[in-house]
Amino acid sequence: MQHVETIIQPKWLITVDKHNRILENHSLVIDRGRIIDIISNQLLKSKYTAIKIHYLDNHAILPGFINAHTHNAMSLMRGFADDLPLMSWLHNYIWPAERLYVGPEMVCDGMRLALAEMIRGGTTCINDMYFYAAEAAEVMHKSGIRGRIADSVLNIEMPWSPNVQSCFDKTIALAQQVKAYPLIEASIAPHAPYTTNDEILREVLRISKQYSLPIHMHVQETREEVDQFLAAHQTWPLDRLMELGLCSSKFQAVHMTQVSKTDIEILKRTGTHVIHCPESNMKLASGICPVQTLLDAGINVALGTDGPASNNDLDMIGEMRSAAFLGKIHDNSPEAISAQNVLRMATINGAKSLSLDHITGSLEINKAADVIAIDLNRPETMPVYNPVSQIVYASSRDQVTDVWVAGKQLLKNRALTTLNEAAILENTKVWAEKFKKIINR
Ligand SMILES: [Zn+2]
Repeated sequence: MQHVETIIQPKWLITVDKHNRILENHSLVIDRGRIIDIISNQLLKSKYTAIKIHYLDNHAILPGFINAHTHNAMSLMRGFADDLPLMSWLHNYIWPAERLYVGPEMVCDGMRLALAEMIRGGTTCINDMYFYAAEAAEVMHKSGIRGRIADSVLNIEMPWSPNVQSCFDKTIALAQQVKAYPLIEASIAPHAPYTTNDEILREVLRISKQYSLPIHMHVQETREEVDQFLAAHQTWPLDRLMELGLCSSKFQAVHMTQVSKTDIEILKRTGTHVIHCPESNMKLASGICPVQTLLDAGINVALGTDGPASNNDLDMIGEMRSAAFLGKIHDNSPEAISAQNVLRMATINGAKSLSLDHITGSLEINKAADVIAIDLNRPETMPVYNPVSQIVYASSRDQVTDVWVAGKQLLKNRALTTLNEAAILENTKVWAEKFKKIINR
């Protein structure tokens, strides 16, 4: 008999392994933060005892969601400027507000609010791009979530970032700092083709290689952006990125609502990952990423919410449903973006895009115990013929009852264990009073 830390015995164990196995009458055995066995309940009794056994007779357990693109601190600007075109939204509202209020305190408070929302919604790993990443990374570390984080690199002077060199200096310092945080890794995040240039991108590539940092970048988010780039450079942004050597299996191209045949060839040949953010793209009317075409071409497509100021939630169950529906209407086919495929996009594909698939993204032996439990025994999700369909098409994030990251329980029967929800809510009200001054100016 082996004595272990935790055993979870659910009704359905959704592995998201390469065969998409869904097991019944099986348990997940966790010790020292890792999945050490997936075993039938019959054999379990003769092999393991545990400090804690969770009997989840009405639940599906599955790998935690991976939000592959977000700007978490912007949670404080949720609902602050809605129903506007991207450039007006950025120039007239978001950037002026950021110039006034972005600082370590705002970023940490916004990160805490976003993490509270995300953990309650079953997200166990994030890919964040914003400012003051050093301070935000420490908040992430204390919350127990897994993820990558980066300081945006952009050619726009900000009070906290006088020039591009300071963005690079912060990136290099962050890469050193996160070595002390077991679940946090750094990235380098050039903001977009229209906020950088060739010289900056060459330096991005050099730093990426020297410090082994994946590159996280907005690419071809709108038609307007592509047309402006084309007029200035006589080439598409992705073409230029490929010429500069950025496209590779370490490159995350976020959005890609504009995709040419050449782009598909580039993405496929270089192993570049696409991060699809359907709700942000719909809300800003940016365009539609042709996800099924990319998946059919063998390109890895992951799922992200984008920032909470352009979505406006950080709900990966909602995002999966939006991705499925948008893909079907785009392709004029109900067979496009199946429930199973969109679940893969929200889990294992996200892990691949962040070069973390050896650690997380599926429930398999030797991977980290990044696990969530969803209660399906509710009027909203009964009966259950196929738990994956039910999760994608009928459930809500309020049905996520428990969340573990690296075996540590971050959500216990809907209660956060590492973040103070009441204090976060009170603090958010204080920030809202400050941001209202921008709206009322
Ligand atoms: Zn974004």
